[in-house]
Amino acid sequence: MVPLGRRDALKSIGLGGLSLAMAATLGCGKDEEGETAMEPEGAATTAGPQMYTLPVLPYPSLAPVIDDPTLALHHDKHHAGYVKGANAAIEALEKARAADDYATIKHWERELAFHGSGHVLHTLYWTSMWPGGRGQPSAEMAKALDASLGGKDKMLAQFAAATKAVEASGWGVLAYEPVGRRLIVLQTERHQDLTVWGCVPLLVCDVWEHAYYLKYQNKRADYVDAWLGVIDWESANKRFAAAVNASD
Ligand code: MN
Repeated sequence: MVPLGRRDALKSIGLGGLSLAMAATLGCGKDEEGETAMEPEGAATTAGPQMYTLPVLPYPSLAPVIDDPTLALHHDKHHAGYVKGANAAIEALEKARAADDYATIKHWERELAFHGSGHVLHTLYWTSMWPGGRGQPSAEMAKALDASLGGKDKMLAQFAAATKAVEASGWGVLAYEPVGRRLIVLQTERHQDLTVWGCVPLLVCDVWEHAYYLKYQNKRADYVDAWLGVIDWESANKRFAAAVNASD
């Protein structure tokens, strides 16, 4: 199979039309071999399902907020593992269909949800951050933050509290919920648990220990507080605009 573009990666794990809007805002270039099929913003495609690939980091470092060894391990080993796991699940399910043998269906459906969600969230994580932070909420985003969450500062307070309080491994997520047309903060466990279906993640903060333990050890709260200083609002603004447009 050919490498999977991000848009197709999201489509193929069943996130539907909203994922197209999200994917349209995620482009950040290709790697040296051109193997990572990041599509230009807003690009359309009619390609069918393809395999998942590891995106290229859009910056060389996020230090001092995230130390370089953590960034490298997180991207090159952990995220790569989710890519591999998602592809393995897709392939196993293809074989199951071909053989009409569903003896292990529960295992592979769980693997698909875990690794597929892990790949999507990590892809969004890299584009939720920028060295030193970047931008501010757009006028539209600021208006939505005011209406849904009491403004940017109140949102950040809730986001930080929810993220610090994740039980075991998981994520803090700022998302656009298209049914109620509101911004919400989610506290996701592992990668795939505790969500509202159809939400479009706009900002995600990983609080699995692999995201911070080398530098912050058991002080997750210090990591989350520091993480607020590297938020890429420009990226979040694009995702928000695309999500709202897709849900109109
Ligand atoms: Mn992670």
